[in-house]
Amino acid sequence: MSTPTYNEWQQRAAQLASETRAFIGGEYVHATDCRTFSDIDPATAKTVADVARCGADDVDAAVRAARTAFEDGRWSRLAPAERKRRLLRLAELITEHGEELALLDTLDMGKPITETLTVDVPGAAGCFAWHAEAVDKLYDEVAPTAPGSLATVRRVPLGVVGAVVPWNFPLDMASWKLAPALAAGNSVVLKPAEQSPLSALRLARLATEAGIPDGVLNVVPGFGEEAGQALGRHPDVDVLAFTGSTAVGKLFLSYAAESNLKQVWPECGGKSPNLVFADADLEAAAEKAAWGFLYNSGQVCSANTRLLVESCIAEEFTARVVAHVRQWRSGDPLDPATVLGPLVDEAQANRVLGAVRTARAAGATVACGGTRPDGPGAYLDPTVVTGLTPDAPLAREELFGPVLAVLPFADEAEAVRIANDSPYGLAASVWTRDIGRAHRVSDALHAGTVSVNTVDALDPVTPFGGFKQSGFGRDLSLHSFAKYTGLKTTWIQYA
Ligand code: NAD
Repeated sequence: MSTPTYNEWQQRAAQLASETRAFIGGEYVHATDCRTFSDIDPATAKTVADVARCGADDVDAAVRAARTAFEDGRWSRLAPAERKRRLLRLAELITEHGEELALLDTLDMGKPITETLTVDVPGAAGCFAWHAEAVDKLYDEVAPTAPGSLATVRRVPLGVVGAVVPWNFPLDMASWKLAPALAAGNSVVLKPAEQSPLSALRLARLATEAGIPDGVLNVVPGFGEEAGQALGRHPDVDVLAFTGSTAVGKLFLSYAAESNLKQVWPECGGKSPNLVFADADLEAAAEKAAWGFLYNSGQVCSANTRLLVESCIAEEFTARVVAHVRQWRSGDPLDPATVLGPLVDEAQANRVLGAVRTARAAGATVACGGTRPDGPGAYLDPTVVTGLTPDAPLAREELFGPVLAVLPFADEAEAVRIANDSPYGLAASVWTRDIGRAHRVSDALHAGTVSVNTVDALDPVTPFGGFKQSGFGRDLSLHSFAKYTGLKTTWIQYA
């Protein structure tokens, strides 16, 4: 089956009639006070939809629905094989409705339609399928107790999970939380980002069609300070899984401390280093270096936004990277040929541009970009900045935009020192043909994932998450179940 043309995507966008109400207890409902907020397309600055603006009362209703569903066992006490069957059906439905879901994410946050269709949608479907397949193959433990006693140690669902997610991969970030949380038997209240609520609202209905009972998955769109904070502070939420900025991750830890000591799993920001040594395959490294900071317009938590390059090749290698960067042209996200979309909104585009201008005023050199194209939309030209010191703000702070900071290093020790001198520790990449160096440097880097001779390696079979102020939660892989289950010991004394 052929995929839609540019013209067809435009027609579908013009006729969009998406659900905009909250999803609570198996029904779409308006916010209790009927308030809404405008969901803006960053490519056109036009309103895509007016969406329910949930507040504390709506969050409370969603948590109560989730609690009721959890306690009566309509999902939590199904056999794992039955939960698997229904979640596999949900994965199929995501695939069947892939074009619709892709369009919603593209209109919401500006990601090129080819990406949402070929990466985000299969990623979400695959995530549900992977966790569904795993859940009836996980065995629990029998502890080595003395004769006359039997102690089982089981992983049990924790109850009501609150999930608060960002806008950069709307469907996928939601799926990374929902799939293991639901597979493990929990009920969930999901708060999507205010920039990108539509795919989560659509997913809720697909979940019902797949057989996820009412109340097990609830979606409360709204603002962070309102719906997000209410979920973080709710006394009947057992776990709060968060992906977003480090500043807000810290808030969730304080919400938990000030309320019911719920478990909080923060997955936060990054400023990932990409270390290129002179002995590397420089052409492959240059191509991936460009991809590593431009993919999704740099709005990736693990984006390789610090390019650390061995001094003897720094000039030549930067030129190669810039040559690749110049091939990344921005365009209308609805055009299947577009590889680079706008940033999520005007404020973000201006903030990132401001950071580049500040660096330039402080003496840095802008090798390419540093401008915004004429015309509507929150676009920023891909930007490479050299002449920075490792302590320059542009080289340290997460910008969340298509900006690369280039930093030369003299030797391996200096490369590792610069790479690790960061409040973040999410991801890192290393390029070298020396196997000993690849292992030495990988061992020395403080990062949750180190990619060697590639950038930003990611797969459902490996955990994703970081160290330091990148947070300590892990998504994907069997390790993600640890966030949504607690260890329960049952001790039977029989002699
Ligand atoms: P954000 O922290 O502003 O928002 C994330 C979510 O938190 C949104 O749903 C938002 O509504 C909510 N929120 C905002 N303020 C809140 C508050 N005061 N109380 C409660 N909830 C609040 O982040 P963003 O701008 O949406 O996303 C970008 C950030 O996400 C970047 O820092 C990026 O690195 C990070 N991120 C991390 C990962 C990861 O796995 N480590 C993945 C993707 C994105």
